[in-house]
Amino acid sequence: MLGTCGWSYAEWEDSFYFRKQGKLKQYSSIFPTVEINSTFYALPKPEVVLGWNQYTPQDFIFSAKLPQIITHKKTIDVSKGVEADINQFLEVMRPLISGKKLWCILVQLPPFLKFNNERLESFLSLLPTITNFAMEFRHTSWLRKETFRLLDIYHVAYTIVDEPLLPPEVHITSDIAYFRWHGRGSRPWFNYKYSKEEVEEWVPRVTEVAGKTKRVLGYFNNHFHAYAPENCLQIMQMLGINTEHSDATLRRMNLSRKDRSSSPVETLEIWTGPISDKKVENMLQEFGSGDIIKKAKSIQNKEFSLREDSKRGIAAYIADTTVDIDVERQTIIHYCTLWGSLSLEKKFCPHIVKLFLDIDSRRAVKILSQISSTLDNWKFDNRLAVEFPG
Ligand SMILES: [Zn+2]
Repeated sequence: MLGTCGWSYAEWEDSFYFRKQGKLKQYSSIFPTVEINSTFYALPKPEVVLGWNQYTPQDFIFSAKLPQIITHKKTIDVSKGVEADINQFLEVMRPLISGKKLWCILVQLPPFLKFNNERLESFLSLLPTITNFAMEFRHTSWLRKETFRLLDIYHVAYTIVDEPLLPPEVHITSDIAYFRWHGRGSRPWFNYKYSKEEVEEWVPRVTEVAGKTKRVLGYFNNHFHAYAPENCLQIMQMLGINTEHSDATLRRMNLSRKDRSSSPVETLEIWTGPISDKKVENMLQEFGSGDIIKKAKSIQNKEFSLREDSKRGIAAYIADTTVDIDVERQTIIHYCTLWGSLSLEKKFCPHIVKLFLDIDSRRAVKILSQISSTLDNWKFDNRLAVEFPG
């Protein structure tokens, strides 16, 4: 059963949805499953959960992301009381569980959390059995046989991913299989559309896994510009699990994209004059010494992964940490020990400098001049940005 990560995107109104209202109802008439992402940020209100149950067909299946307080704040550390948090979450989700609609809970670990056998085992051992769980790791240190062995013992699915941080390894550790397609981080924009060939690469893997498990769940997370539903409809077609309705939706999406490609491309800003990398570097001098630029340049490109570039701001993973430049809220959220003191002086650390060096130079110049001209309003917040896309 395949679908997308989330469904409530205003951006999908032009191409995927017929109407603005009743998105979940429309969505669930096309896809058999969806992954709820909003539960990562906050516990849903009881009436919201009832709505999820009510506005979807009887045989529709949900997965839901475990709240970040458990995975990112308490880093699945049993001694910090995560068991109570899990129970509280399951209690809120009860209508979906008793309606047999909640098939899996996704436990996505933060990218900075590295392999820790004891922590994983004590966490897995307290997971209740009323629903399935899938673990998504975001650090390569977890890819080892001890991890797979533990998942196997506790019947927790290994989340098979397509993304920049981890290799697309297939491991089957439970009755269900869980796929997540995040897109492939590309400079300068993180809004990846898989080509047909790239979608096709996954067909044999999904087929193989389907033959070895009782249920396959898979979700596309590349939601910018409604690429996720489009890629999902494509793979459904390739796998032969398409319906007349899903094919019609794909044709309609293709048509609406063709319409739009003839109209002028949306421009973010007009910047006159050539922009060079040198200009960005000169502007960065204001936020640190020349040394810092050298240090930023020594961070390898493969350690940089852009996660979001939108009107709201820019978010990236850089060398085991996160940098979130929130333009709307005029806040930079980042954590590293060096920035502890530098943030107080409103200076950048090499991670932040690296972000500005790696993004599109026009965009960098625009944001840097905004920060510079309204520096007093900006908050330099030395903590991990947990509300991260994906
Ligand atoms: Zn830093």
